[in-house]
Amino acid sequence: MSEKRAILVIEDEHAISNFICRALSSNDYKPIAATSGKEGLSLFFSHSPDLILLDLGLPDMDGLEVLSQLSDLPRETPVIIISARDRESEKVKALDMGADDYVVKPFGVSELLARIRTTLRRADRLKVSQGIQRSVYQVKDLTIDIAKHQVTQAGELIHFTQNEFKILELLAIHAGKVLTYDFILEHVWGPYGSNNSNQILRVNMANIRRKLKENPSEPRYIHTELGIGYRMLED
Ligand code: CA
Repeated sequence: MSEKRAILVIEDEHAISNFICRALSSNDYKPIAATSGKEGLSLFFSHSPDLILLDLGLPDMDGLEVLSQLSDLPRETPVIIISARDRESEKVKALDMGADDYVVKPFGVSELLARIRTTLRRADRLKVSQGIQRSVYQVKDLTIDIAKHQVTQAGELIHFTQNEFKILELLAIHAGKVLTYDFILEHVWGPYGSNNSNQILRVNMANIRRKLKENPSEPRYIHTELGIGYRMLED
């Protein structure tokens, strides 16, 4: 019985599409290739893939439009954006529209496979925990207990302000996923939070890192995605 996970690749550049599909096949995934947005949507409906790789620059429709049509559907299929370099605002828009992650062209096979593994794992975790409110998150030697409102690092209790705790909680719940500045601002400072400048977030993040003795250039817990947001690193 085949247990291969199906991955829909929506990419109009044949060289890139072939490269991706070969990499997927040789790593025990089942690739399904589409070269336009319309074909991608139709293959999505006929094949119900486990994950979608979506190029933003498609010939017939904007990749963001494809994403928006996918986000309207009740079925939650994780999406990884394939993006050109220097298109930060596009990437941020896609992430805010519900994309799970992105890779920047040109990317290597190992980077792509790592992103796919992380995203599928997170999607599986979400499915399992649906309806069950977890209250304790573990990231390396960091334990974030939401019910008790406590953070310990290697067993030692560390004090955080209310907002610092909310940021850590949010990153831990979505560990492995990049969260945009606006997403964090809205979840921590409320619906108008993104009217705040990113400065308030940067200050809080600097305090969090200082308390965790985290060196931003060699992060153990929180990685900065320049111009986009932050990502809690998984084990
Ligand atoms: Ca393209």
